[in-house]
Amino acid sequence: MTPERMDTKTILEWAERHLMTTYARAPLCLVRGDGVRVWDADGKEYLDFVGGIAVDALGHCHPKVVAALREQAGTLLHVSNLFHIAPQAQLARLLVEHSFADRVFFSNSGAEANEAAIKLARKYAKEAFASDRTEIITMRGGFHGRTLATLTATAQEKYQRGFEPLVPGFKYVPYGNLRAVEQAVDSRTAAILVEPIQGEGGVVVPDDGYLPGLRRLCDETGVLLMLDEIQTGVGRTGRLWAYQHWGAEPDVMTLAKALAGGLPIGATLAKEFCARAFTPGSHASTFGGNPLVTRVALAALETVIAERLPERAARMGDYLLARLRELAARFPAVRAVRGMGLLVALELDRPAGPLVAACREQGLLVLTAGEQVLRMTPPLIVNEAAVDRAAEVLEDVLGREVA
Ligand SMILES: *Cc1c(COP(=O)(O)O)cnc(C)c1O
Repeated sequence: MTPERMDTKTILEWAERHLMTTYARAPLCLVRGDGVRVWDADGKEYLDFVGGIAVDALGHCHPKVVAALREQAGTLLHVSNLFHIAPQAQLARLLVEHSFADRVFFSNSGAEANEAAIKLARKYAKEAFASDRTEIITMRGGFHGRTLATLTATAQEKYQRGFEPLVPGFKYVPYGNLRAVEQAVDSRTAAILVEPIQGEGGVVVPDDGYLPGLRRLCDETGVLLMLDEIQTGVGRTGRLWAYQHWGAEPDVMTLAKALAGGLPIGATLAKEFCARAFTPGSHASTFGGNPLVTRVALAALETVIAERLPERAARMGDYLLARLRELAARFPAVRAVRGMGLLVALELDRPAGPLVAACREQGLLVLTAGEQVLRMTPPLIVNEAAVDRAAEVLEDVLGREVA
C-alpha cells in the first residue's frame, strides 16, 4: 500500500500498533500543505497555526525551499564532515554576518545544538580558568531538549521523572529573577543557559532588564551567556534573533526549529574566544550540516532575511495580540494574553487541551504550552485574513466551550 492511498483509520491503527507511544497525537493525519494551510488524509482543510511547532516559518512548500531541495537532491545529499561542504560554509558565513557570532557548529536537532553548547561551556571554562568550573545554571520552567544532558538542563520535573540519574553539574533558579541568578553564580559556574522567552514553559516574556542584567553579570564573572533561541530564533519574535530586542548579545546561541525551513538541523553559534575551545576531535556529528540540509537552510534563511519576515512577524504578531486581547476582555476564562511577534499564547483558567481539540474541529490547528496555555506559532508569512479567521474560530470556541 502506498502512503498516499492509506485512509486515516488504517494510519491510526498502524501507528497505534507499531510506534512507541511517546506522543499523544491528535487523531488526524496531515498529508499536504501550502502556505499556512494543510489538508488531512480525508481532504479536510486546516489553517495551520502550529507550523510544525515554530518550524515552518516560510509556511508549507515555499517555492524557494522546494527549489533548493530539488536541486540539491539531484546534486549531492551526503558526504560526511571528513570533507568540506560548500553550502555548510555558506550557511555558517550567513549566520555569522547576521549575528553576534564568529563560528558555527552544525548538528541535527535542538537538543543536539544544546548538547554541543553544554560541552563547549565545560571545555572552555576548564581551559580558561584551569579549574573545576563546570556548572551550568538553567531556569525553572525552561525547555532545552530530551537527551540526558538537555533533559537535565530542562528544569521541569514532569520531563525528568523516571529517567534518573540525571547528569551532574546543573543548578536551577526561577525564570526572570535576576537576583536569583546573581546569588547562584559562584566559582564553579561555567555558563548560564536560558531562553530569551520561555516557549514550552508557557510563552513567558521576561522583564526588559532581565537579559541585559544577565549580560552584565556574565561580563563581571567570566561566566558564558548561552541563549537557547531554538524556538525564538529566525524571526519568530519580530527580530531575526530575540536577543536583539534587548541589545544583550550572548556568547553562545543555539538554533534549530525554523533554521532549515522544515528539514532537521541544529546549530551552535559562538564568539571566537570560546569557540576556540573546540579543536579537531572535540565534537562531531555524522549528518550535521550535510549538503542537503545546509543548502535548504541557506535558501530558507536568505528568504527570511530578504523578505524581511522578522518585521512581518512583528506586525502580524501585534495584530494577532490585539485580536486576542479583545477576546480576553470578553471571556473571563482567558486569564492573560502573552507573546512577542508570532510566538503568542492565551493563558486560560482551565486545561487548554479541549479548546485545542475544538479549534481543530473548526479547521484551526493550535497547540498547548503546558497545561493551561494555548499557544500559536504560525508561519511568519501569515496575513491579516488568516489571523482574522483564527480569531473568529477562537471566539466561537471560547463562546461555546467556556460557558
Ligand atoms: C524545541 C526546543 C528544543 C528541542 O529541540 P529538538 O529539536 O526537539 O531537540 C530545545 N530548546 C527549545 C527552546 C525548544 O523550543
